Amino acid sequence: MDDWRLRGQDEYLKNATLHKIVFPDFWEKAYAEKNAFYREIELTAHRFVDAAQRGAENLEGERIRFFWHDHCEFCWEKVMTDYEVEFYCTSDMRTWICKKCFEDFQEPFHWKLDLSNEWLK
Ligand SMILES: [Zn+2]
Repeated sequence: MDDWRLRGQDEYLKNATLHKIVFPDFWEKAYAEKNAFYREIELTAHRFVDAAQRGAENLEGERIRFFWHDHCEFCWEKVMTDYEVEFYCTSDMRTWICKKCFEDFQEPFHWKLDLSNEWLK
C-alpha cells in the first residue's frame, strides 16, 4: 500500500486493539470519574507547572485539560479535549488515530475495536 501517511506503523500497530473516543464527552467522563485519562493529564500538568515554576492557577478544576493534546499517528491531525471530534486510541493511550485514518487502515492493520468501558479505570 502506497500512502504518504504510512511510515512503518505496522511494526507496532498491526492487530492492535483500539478504543473509540469521542470528545468532549470522553473528557467530561474522565473529569467526573478521575479515571486513568484524567490522571495522565493531571500528572503532565503538574510536571509542567513544577518545571516552569509558575502557572499553578491553571491546575485548578477542568483547566488542566489544556495541558494535553496529541496527534493522529498517521496524518498528524491534532486532537484536544475541548471540541467535538472522534478519535481512536490504544489501551495505553499513547497512540491516537483520527476517524479518517481509522477507516482507511482498519482492514490492512487488522485492528480490533473494543467498545466496552472496562479498559479505562
Ligand atoms: Zn489521521
